[in-house]
Amino acid sequence: ATTRVKKPDWLRVKLPIGENYKQVRNLVDTHKLHTICESGNCPNMGECWGAGTATFMILGNICTRSCGFCAVATGRPEAVDFDEPQRVAEAIYLMKVKHAVITSVDRDELKDGGSIIWANTINAVRALNPETTMETLIPDFRGQWENLQRIIDVAPEIVSHNLETVERLTKQVRIQAKYHRSLEVIRRLKEGGMRTKSGIMLGLGETKEEVVQAMQDLYDNGCDVVTLGQYLQPTPKHLPVVRFVHPDEFAELREIGYNMGLDYVEAGPLVRSSYHAEKHIVSGRNK
Ligand code: SF4
Ligand code: SF4
Repeated sequence: ATTRVKKPDWLRVKLPIGENYKQVRNLVDTHKLHTICESGNCPNMGECWGAGTATFMILGNICTRSCGFCAVATGRPEAVDFDEPQRVAEAIYLMKVKHAVITSVDRDELKDGGSIIWANTINAVRALNPETTMETLIPDFRGQWENLQRIIDVAPEIVSHNLETVERLTKQVRIQAKYHRSLEVIRRLKEGGMRTKSGIMLGLGETKEEVVQAMQDLYDNGCDVVTLGQYLQPTPKHLPVVRFVHPDEFAELREIGYNMGLDYVEAGPLVRSSYHAEKHIVSGRNK
């Protein structure tokens, strides 16, 4: 049995309502798109969708991986949908999104790891929305760097790849991933000239020192932006919350991150890697 820790007040959020929310809901449905907001049961849907923004999840909604924190279904994905890039571009156009965040499930069964659909999506979004900037939250492509290169070649404004947790817990939290391979993704993105970003979830059993080490490892590998947020258990089958991290500790970690030289640190209980993403394309250090 898992121990249940009571949710503190600082995690209470508003319910999603309002006209913008309905419009986003409608566009996502009519364009047969998926969002990580819904799949991940994100507590910020009221705020983000209410402001007319969402994080699209491409390459279907079934993942070949089975990370212990993630609510996306694991299994055999459906065939690749070559019309999806255009539908994403159209939804972004209709939503008038100024900064789009796009992520995907992992498609480890595909030779290209999904990188062709990724590149097609970035190109389609840009063709229809030349003023819109993009963050692409990408997989590790199992270290097949020619697939990562397809992303670098089309140069989104910012590219993120989440470390998700500290080194010691990586096997438990992201069973098919590797801590150092993810750091290498960041390093290669940076060498390719990208602005880079990564996220870590807190409350999975890591110590503060381990979080600081992970931030340092990210920095040392060329990461510009780091997000730190509270892990929330999406269903009782997922990894339990070991601890609710106090907002003051997030603030302290933010300072530590800036002092080590990171360009932007977004830290707080409700922070998700796509939260306030539009701010991350410029430095946050002088705030
Ligand atoms: Fe969606 Fe990200 Fe906002 Fe959550 S924080 S609702 S995942 S855009
Ligand atoms: Fe979820 Fe892990 Fe698949 Fe990403 S790779 S969608 S975190 S199961």
